[in-house]
Amino acid sequence: KVKAAGKSRAPKRYTVGGEHVKFSDCAGLGQIRYELEEVVDFFKNREKYISRGSRIPAGILLSGEPGVGKTLLAKAVAGEANVTFLAISASQFVEVYVGVGAARVRALYTEAKEQAPAVVFIDEIDAVGRKRGMAEGSGGEERDATLNQLLINLDGFEGKGDVITIAATNRVDILDEALVRPGRFDRKIYVPKPGPRQRAEILQVHARGKPLAENLNWQALGEISEGLAGAELAQAMNNAALIMLRKGRDKIREEDISEAVTLAGVGVEDPRPRSLERQRMLALHQASQLVLCYASPFTRDAIGAVNIVPRLGEKVGRMRIDLDPFLFLISGQSARFNLDYICVLLAPRAVDEVWNGADNLSTISMDFMEGARDLAMSMVMCGMSDNENLYGLMLCMYTRQEYWEIDNAVDDILEQAYARTMEIVRKNRSLIDALVDQLVTKSSLERREYLPLMEFYGNFDDIPNGT
Ligand code: ADP
Repeated sequence: KVKAAGKSRAPKRYTVGGEHVKFSDCAGLGQIRYELEEVVDFFKNREKYISRGSRIPAGILLSGEPGVGKTLLAKAVAGEANVTFLAISASQFVEVYVGVGAARVRALYTEAKEQAPAVVFIDEIDAVGRKRGMAEGSGGEERDATLNQLLINLDGFEGKGDVITIAATNRVDILDEALVRPGRFDRKIYVPKPGPRQRAEILQVHARGKPLAENLNWQALGEISEGLAGAELAQAMNNAALIMLRKGRDKIREEDISEAVTLAGVGVEDPRPRSLERQRMLALHQASQLVLCYASPFTRDAIGAVNIVPRLGEKVGRMRIDLDPFLFLISGQSARFNLDYICVLLAPRAVDEVWNGADNLSTISMDFMEGARDLAMSMVMCGMSDNENLYGLMLCMYTRQEYWEIDNAVDDILEQAYARTMEIVRKNRSLIDALVDQLVTKSSLERREYLPLMEFYGNFDDIPNGT
């Protein structure tokens, strides 16, 4: 049942947790850590600051390249201050429907206020915080509404110190000035890429708890890892453990780490050796999504090549099917398109169940599931559900009752979509098996390569168009 898998009490789109992270987990960030310790102090000694009339900022802006540890630092602030951590990526505020992004911002801050004291972390703030009027083509109006809502919320918390927003971006140059005005994100902290000494420290943090050989020359490892940011170093350390295992040893040697570091430097393709079993799972998920795309009149002609080649640092639950980018602009406003697309997102979950059993689900299909829930939520907020009362809601705060109704409407959509997905998946078992075999052999399939399989094994005749 879908409910058991993606069920949450209230519609949630942000991640909670991270409170256990400490500054000691952030390596090589001496100066920055010092600046952020002040934020921790705001939380711990709010009364002192307020009684003295000192101003506590509403927001801190962390800038820097991807993977340098911005998210980690925000979590560490929450962890050290022992407060709630709520995180969201601003790209999730960007919606085609006017008002949805703003509603999401409000919902996020309502939650933050309930769980205060709290750190709200907004990643990729540039997605909504771009200079107004710079909007390229459509979507500008929606983004401005979202940005305005964010400004209102920031102003509401200024000087109180119970909810502090930490935002991250690697594009400070395009941020709207209104965002960085005093009282909003007026503390700006640049997080640099690590130098040799810092890289050595980061590698050591990620070596904690791993079996290490004696006398590793960390300094040398820091030097050869030129160009890598924290995220890649963390990954390299994990890969070093895999390399050790592959070589049949039980201690990580310096050579294992340097091999992993070198691979990370050049790595476009993920160097981790993948078992056939893992490849088949990836292929199964991609094949299922391809079949669901093919089953929908909206996407059937918009699909291109599909591949199962993972790239380093890539999010796991990502579709590796080329889809015509105009598809969403053209069809995005239609309920039937959205329902069909939810089916595409639910397909990995359905094949997990049919092929591997309901008690053997993968985290990857859960990731897609989360996307399906998000899309269903957007539909509800736009009046695309049976409960049309929920439409106007985006303009006001929700009550508990309304939360409950939204949650139910989302579940209804997901259940309906899941039933359809299951039907299509069950009817096309042979097709999916054939696609999986081809994908595992060739790693990628062009449209002209899979179309004959669709026609030969496919069973789409009595499947209703849309839902
Ligand atoms: P960003 O938010 O800047 O893109 P993240 O904070 O998400 O980067 O970094 C991803 C991961 O990389 C972290 O969870 C951590 O494991 C590792 N990492 C990045 N920077 C550091 C650092 N300075 N010290 C230790 N680990 C780091």
